[in-house]
Amino acid sequence: TVTVGVLALQGAFSEHTQLLRQATASLPQDLEWRFIEVRTPHELSQCDGLILPGGESTTMSLVAARSNLLEPLRDFVKVSRRPVWGTCAGLILLAESANRTKKGGQELIGGLDVRVNRNHFGRQTESFQANLDLPFLSSTSDTSKAQPYRCVFIRAPVVEKILPHKKGVQSEEERLDDTVVAPSKLPADDLAREQVRSEVEVLATLSKENLEHGHTGAEDIIAVRQGNVFGCSFHPELTEDPRIHVWWLGEVLTAVERRQRFELADRTK
Ligand code: GLN
Repeated sequence: TVTVGVLALQGAFSEHTQLLRQATASLPQDLEWRFIEVRTPHELSQCDGLILPGGESTTMSLVAARSNLLEPLRDFVKVSRRPVWGTCAGLILLAESANRTKKGGQELIGGLDVRVNRNHFGRQTESFQANLDLPFLSSTSDTSKAQPYRCVFIRAPVVEKILPHKKGVQSEEERLDDTVVAPSKLPADDLAREQVRSEVEVLATLSKENLEHGHTGAEDIIAVRQGNVFGCSFHPELTEDPRIHVWWLGEVLTAVERRQRFELADRTK
C-alpha cells in the first residue's frame, strides 16, 4: 500500500483527494493506494508522499504551527525527502522565501530554493484561467498528455527568483559528495542524502501569449521542481483533469520503489 497524505488544515484539500482517487484509474491496477487527510504529526509519519493544497498560506502556516506540524513538515520535506507537491498556497509554504504582505509575515516550510511573490497576479482580476502546454506531462507516451492543461490561477503566487545555492552551510548531499560513497553502500537512513539534487528546475512558465488580457509582462515561472519537491502556482485540484495527479503519483511510486530497494540492500548487508 502506498499512502499519500493531503495536508488538511485549511483550503482545497478534499478536492485534491478527489482527483487523487480519479488518478488511480490511470495507474497500474495491482497497486493499493491509501489517501489520508493529514492534521497531526502521527498522520504525517504514515505518508509516502504529501500534497499541500491551495488556500491561504498565512492561515495554513499558523494552524500548522499550532498543531506542532511545522517541524515534522520540514523534516518530511528536507530530511526524509519524500515527494511533496504544493499548489498555490502550498507552493508558497514550500518556498525558502516569500514576500510578506502582512506584518510579521508567516513561517514557511521551505524546500524549494526560490523566492515567491505571493499575490503576483494582483487583485485587479483575482482569478483567471489559461490553457498551457505542460511539457513535463508529455514524458509518457500517452498522446492525451499532449493536450493543453487548463490552469486555474486564484490570487496566484509566482516564482520570482531562483535563489543561489546557500553558501557557508554545506548541505548533507555536498558532505556526502566529499566522501564519495557508492550508492549501494548507503544505509537506508542515508538514502535521502544520496539523492543529489541541488538544482531548481523550471517546469512551466506563463507568458503574455497565454493570456487574453495582460496579467504578466514577461515569462512568469509557475511550476518548479527541486528533487523531491514540486510546486505550481495554479490549482489542478480545482479542475477535473487528473493528469498532473497521475504524473505526480508516478513520482511517488518511483520514490517508494527506490526506498524499498535501499531498505532491502540495507537489511542484507
Ligand atoms: N495568495 C494566496 C496566499 O498567499 C494563495 C492563493 C491560493 O492558494 N489560491 O496564501
